[in-house]
Amino acid sequence: MTNLILFWHRRDLRLDDNIGLNEAQQHSNKIVGVFCFDPKLLQSDQVAPARIKYLLGCLKELAAGYKKAGSELLFLQADPVTAIPKLAETLNASAVFWNHDVEPYGRKRDRAVQSALEAKNIPVHTVWDQLLHAPGEILTKGEDPYKVYTPFWKNWQKQPKAEPVGQIRHLTGLTDSEQAKSATVGKISLPTLNDLGLTWDNDLPLLPGETAARERLEQFCDRAILDYDQNRNYPAIDGTSVLSAALKFGAISIREIWQTTVTLWEDTRSDEARDNITAWRQELAWREFYQHALYFFPELADGPDRDQFKDFPWDNNPDHFQAWCDGKTGYPIVDAAMRQLNTTGWMHNRCRMIVASFLTKDLIINWQWGEKYFMQTLFDGDLAANNGGWQWSASSGMDPKPLRIFNPASQAQKFDPDGEYIRYWLPELNALDTGDLLTGNISPLERENLGYVQPIVDHKQQQRAFKQRYQQQKEQS
Ligand SMILES: Cc1cc2nc3c(=O)[nH]c(=O)nc-3n(C[C@H](O)[C@H](O)[C@H](O)COP(=O)(O)OP(=O)(O)OC[C@H]3O[C@@H](n4cnc5c(N)ncnc54)[C@H](O)[C@@H]3O)c2cc1C
Repeated sequence: MTNLILFWHRRDLRLDDNIGLNEAQQHSNKIVGVFCFDPKLLQSDQVAPARIKYLLGCLKELAAGYKKAGSELLFLQADPVTAIPKLAETLNASAVFWNHDVEPYGRKRDRAVQSALEAKNIPVHTVWDQLLHAPGEILTKGEDPYKVYTPFWKNWQKQPKAEPVGQIRHLTGLTDSEQAKSATVGKISLPTLNDLGLTWDNDLPLLPGETAARERLEQFCDRAILDYDQNRNYPAIDGTSVLSAALKFGAISIREIWQTTVTLWEDTRSDEARDNITAWRQELAWREFYQHALYFFPELADGPDRDQFKDFPWDNNPDHFQAWCDGKTGYPIVDAAMRQLNTTGWMHNRCRMIVASFLTKDLIINWQWGEKYFMQTLFDGDLAANNGGWQWSASSGMDPKPLRIFNPASQAQKFDPDGEYIRYWLPELNALDTGDLLTGNISPLERENLGYVQPIVDHKQQQRAFKQRYQQQKEQS
């Protein structure tokens, strides 16, 4: 009888270039996939309906892929620590395979699942899949993890990168009696968003699944990547890949993405084109930098890296926070960005930095409030990238620059010079002169006539207040 292997999918929702799955196939062709809806995650206050919609779409395509290959993807909705070992035991699995995670919760859960499986004498095989370089592969000369991005990038980009391992095409599935057994241990059908008590009616910025992710990569590499360095900072331009959710859930592999940039690089002799490809690769390296950071310093998930932010005297005004969430601060670029987030589940990176700086430096609200709101709304919400982005913006994180404060007006003038992005998201301000639109220099009466809110704080005043408190904290720490 052929040995049955259970493959536990988490953030690797594809059959193509999946390292763990490939290794499993070297042991046996009889592989059954499983995805477990973890109630602890679904019931947490960090769930974004748009992200779960994307996840469900990826799972639907993955299940179809398993079926086409001759096997199936099983769904469970229970604590994985008990549910995965129970399923493995019931199916008499010879081993369970999965790919590693970097998040503190996932790592603790995985250790518990592994112990429970080993207690049942079921071997566990785990490998790295979601990064080009696993934590520990990129270290300083003193063999420490990097705490600064630039030297990390210099080292990371020099290291040889693995090539894709290819697609799983043919598998052997469960027998009828194994099918019947799997039904006794909580197997469910793929739930709908509604079944999970969530609603998201708007379109997603990227369709779920392997096919859409690959198409998006091709589109991006045909055109936008070649102007990436110039265009990536302008939110009105379609200049970035919007592959973040696909990368978060592994709808596409990071090796395939990297390989595509290698082919592009080799196909061009233009220095300018190569500079643009490098600029995009630097973003892929930011993703890995933050994942390594979270792996080595899991405490980042719970608080600031820098001491002067440990007991920072934040204002934490709940009305100001609500106005920020709703895009009603009276600062056009901030409000436009928050409306983009609330409507699409995605926000342009430049705007993520602007709104994060505004929340922390202008409203003097704890960055962790913003971090949580992003996790509740972003379709690409990812602990490592989100925490890294928020700590960078709050100046509480791993950043050699001690303090960054963005001026919303100058950010708008520089990165939305024609006011196109602001006008799209704040149509009520359409008729305003572009200069006033960008600076927010709109009289109280005009605001009232246009149905646009008054500014909730004064940028200059708040900037001074923030700097004063920052200085005091620095002296005390
Ligand atoms: C406050 C704040 C919060 C953020 N939260 C998240 C988050 O929850 N999830 C997330 O994926 N990114 C987050 N980012 C990083 C970045 O904004 C998004 O990755 C990017 O906007 C996604 O769009 P894209 O796919 O078009 O990116 P592209 O510009 O096409 O970049 C390609 C890929 O590189 C990665 N990447 C790009 N920039 C960064 C970065 N600064 N840090 C880490 N990875 C990066 C992403 O995987 C992205 O898909 C955050 C940034 C900030 C400032």
